[in-house]
Amino acid sequence: MDVRDGFVGTIGNTPLVRLRQASEETGCEILAKAEFLNPGGSVKDRAALAIIQDAEARGALKPGGVIVEGTAGNTGIGLALVGNARGYRTVIVIPETQSQEKKDMLRLCGAELKEVPAVPYKDPNNYVHVSGRLAEELNQSQPNGAIWARQFDNQANRRGHYETTGPEIWRQTDGKVDGFICAVGTGGTLAGTAMALKERNPELKVGLADPPGAALYNYYAHGELKAEGSSISEGIGQGRITGNLEDLEIDFPFQIPDEESVSVVFDLLKHEGFVMGASSGVNVAGAKRLARELGPGHTIVTILCDWGTRYVSKLWNPAFLREKGLPLPDWLES
Ligand code: PMP
Repeated sequence: MDVRDGFVGTIGNTPLVRLRQASEETGCEILAKAEFLNPGGSVKDRAALAIIQDAEARGALKPGGVIVEGTAGNTGIGLALVGNARGYRTVIVIPETQSQEKKDMLRLCGAELKEVPAVPYKDPNNYVHVSGRLAEELNQSQPNGAIWARQFDNQANRRGHYETTGPEIWRQTDGKVDGFICAVGTGGTLAGTAMALKERNPELKVGLADPPGAALYNYYAHGELKAEGSSISEGIGQGRITGNLEDLEIDFPFQIPDEESVSVVFDLLKHEGFVMGASSGVNVAGAKRLARELGPGHTIVTILCDWGTRYVSKLWNPAFLREKGLPLPDWLES
């Protein structure tokens, strides 16, 4: 029998896919881990599961307990679904600027949603801090207690990728991998996967694909945490060194403008058949840039993070693209 054990058993072991157009353009093998095929629809199912398993193992999350988190959406969806499968209630704090599709999805998954204004991290009313205070309150008031998932600084997040995503890529490429690159939200995917791969091949090059509006490109390129510009991408774009980024070494930092990443998203659909969100465009654009740095003949791996159907009202909406002055795919032009 070849049977997976429920929702949790369906997380991970995603296919590694050769991107034909990007590979032909660069003369490298550009491979992408199809994380949108996780059962909750994104790469964040892995982090959600790893965080919950860690909290269970420490005895912090008790049967019937509550999971609280501040999230741009995908982590919340993962936590809510793993929570359903394991008997936990989920309370999610989300910045109101996130796509309606992700909010609707969270509600239909059974998460309790608290929308808050999008304010910078240093403001005590930032969604991350609100979720921390809420977790403390609920831990006192709820009969079975509550935990704060704390995905940004909780290294159980990157450990999940270190133990699953990295080894899967190593196995799927027979160890023939020269570079790994992706964008950072919490940093769990980049740090956990890169650390696992670099341990197996110390020559492996690690890239950062950063959107405008994030501070990490400047930090890794020039030693200064400085953010400029803005991006339509969601779930990525970090302003500080999170706990998950600690001790991560970046060989090639890139800043990817929206014009570049959005046109890669449209290429992924037109030439490969994948309907993706904006962060996948940032990642594949980054993989192409890393390929140009390393030269032809190398194998570069990146991540396809989540489905474009989560952004029908934004990235995939011609009116939104026009308003932002971004390129439109010809089939959406009329
Ligand atoms: N892409 C999307 C769509 C996401 O939601 C996230 C997570 N917020 C990421 C990329 C980045 O993943 P990580 O948190 O592991 O850095």
